[in-house]
Amino acid sequence: MSVIYDRVALIGLGLIASSMFWAMKRAGLAGEVIGYARSAETRAAAREIRLCDRVCDSAAEAVEGADLVVLCVPVGVMGAVTQEIATALKPGATVSDVGSVKGAVIEAVAPHLPAGVHFVPAHPMAGTEHSGPRSGFAELFDGKYCLIVPIPGSDRDAVDRLERLWQGMGAKTDEMDADHHDLVCAVTSHAPHLIAYTMVGVADDLRRVTDSEIIKYSAAGFRDFTRIAASDPTMWRDVFLSNKEATLEILGRFTEELFALQRAIRTGDGELLFDYFTRTRDIRRGIIEARQDTDAPDFGRVKRG
Ligand code: NAP
Repeated sequence: MSVIYDRVALIGLGLIASSMFWAMKRAGLAGEVIGYARSAETRAAAREIRLCDRVCDSAAEAVEGADLVVLCVPVGVMGAVTQEIATALKPGATVSDVGSVKGAVIEAVAPHLPAGVHFVPAHPMAGTEHSGPRSGFAELFDGKYCLIVPIPGSDRDAVDRLERLWQGMGAKTDEMDADHHDLVCAVTSHAPHLIAYTMVGVADDLRRVTDSEIIKYSAAGFRDFTRIAASDPTMWRDVFLSNKEATLEILGRFTEELFALQRAIRTGDGELLFDYFTRTRDIRRGIIEARQDTDAPDFGRVKRG
């Protein structure tokens, strides 16, 4: 594949930025990739593992001369980071982000961008529970979706070029508006995370079941909640605070369904439970057919020993 941007700047060097770097390298999509992270520790780790062609000590320095700048920091600090880089941006450059929420990020970022700089928000729908500069890998986006969220008046060429970058990194792309994105993600990602956090919290409160029993018997289902509930606390705090409306809407519906199932259990309504679980199993089958997960037993986990 050929170079899509001569110079790319990644602001924030965690899971998503490091995966982007390795994916861009794999396919030769960027002439040069410059990185910046807030802490000296992260910058040192990046230099040690050769994450980015050059790592700068300030965000403004990192974006100088970049054709594409990608904000890869928690949603709650996107606005402040944009303020730091605004005057150093190259005219005609594209600024994008990878934030898990779009409405709040657009509100925070767009007002700080100078005229002549294109803003094309995006969100790769791929991740793991790991974070930091050492957690990334080139294959993270392979076969997964990256949602592109053009804002009114977005430059078509800038949008197409960013889509080609994501496709080159292995992702499929779809476009949608910010409100729709935030609702879709509340259903597919944000509410499930909150439910996982809650379930792990409940087990922790249940003193009649000992800690060692929770761990010993976790493969019965609990373990799969704990993987999601181990995700980065800063990232997820920011996601819920900035996608309030859609998340609360979905949680309201979730609570209603939960009450309906609770009532079915109490009244012994086996038919309702059976029909409900048949419907949910079909959704799982749809996800496998769309190749968004594996149908290998135990989620494809490799057996050890
Ligand atoms: P991460 O691994 O925790 O890395 C976050 C990066 O942001 C780090 O380099 C960190 O710097 C920097 N940072 C944190 N607070 C900052 C601040 N106040 N000012 C400047 N830099 C700051 O996070 P990630 O998982 O890559 O997530 C990055 C973005 O991608 C988030 O907006 C998230 O919503 C989105 N996203 C995440 C996933 C996922 O599953 N993880 C999936 C899709 C999208 P230090 O290391 O120096 O602290």
